[in-house]
Amino acid sequence: MSELRSTSTACPRCGAAVHREERPSHICDAAQLIAHLEIDAFDAELGQWLATPHGRFAAWLAERDRAAA
Ligand SMILES: [Zn+2]
Repeated sequence: MSELRSTSTACPRCGAAVHREERPSHICDAAQLIAHLEIDAFDAELGQWLATPHGRFAAWLAERDRAAA
C-alpha cells in the first residue's frame, strides 16, 4: 500500500486521483479510462473489453477528445 498522506486515492479503474469522500459517486471519465487502459494494455481482460461495443465506443470517445485537444 502506497497511499499518499492526503485523502485522495487512485481509482482502480481509471487511475484518476479521487478523494475518498467522492469515491462512492466517482464516475470514470472515458478518456481517462482509456488512457489508463493503454498503460495496462498487456492485460488480456482489458483487451477483450476494448473489443466490445462499449470498449470501442469509449476508445472512439477518447480518440475524439484527443484530436480536439
Ligand atoms: Zn475512475
